[in-house]
Amino acid sequence: MPAKGREGDTAVEAAPATEQFVYCKGCGTKLESRARLSKPRVVVSSMMCDACTEKHGHALMPAPGEPTYCYRCGSLEEVFVTPGISPATYHICPKCLPDRYARYQAGDFETPPKVAPEDEKAEPAKAEPPRKA
Ligand SMILES: [Zn+2]
Ligand SMILES: [Zn+2]
Repeated sequence: MPAKGREGDTAVEAAPATEQFVYCKGCGTKLESRARLSKPRVVVSSMMCDACTEKHGHALMPAPGEPTYCYRCGSLEEVFVTPGISPATYHICPKCLPDRYARYQAGDFETPPKVAPEDEKAEPAKAEPPRKA
């Protein structure tokens, strides 16, 4: 006699805790499993739920000035505007980008220098004294 079990009770918590989702940029609501998006051929054409897409008239980002939520974790993002002649606006999730968040909060908007291959060339030439026998 096969044990029928109580499928109805466990089905809800069947989702593994490791499964990741993406979240609406406009309201932070859970959109869909990220697993689907990790496939190489899938192009992310929308980062917001239908309601937000309609509200903002855009499929990827809320209108300027509107709060944004992290696409990766659904947290409310902090908005930073850089000082200067051509200010840039950054939406930073304190949870996903803690380093950058801390840096921006300290007013440091400098991009950390990239480790470029040119660095090696930039080194001063070896000063080898000319040898004269
Ligand atoms: Zn939304
Ligand atoms: Zn996040």
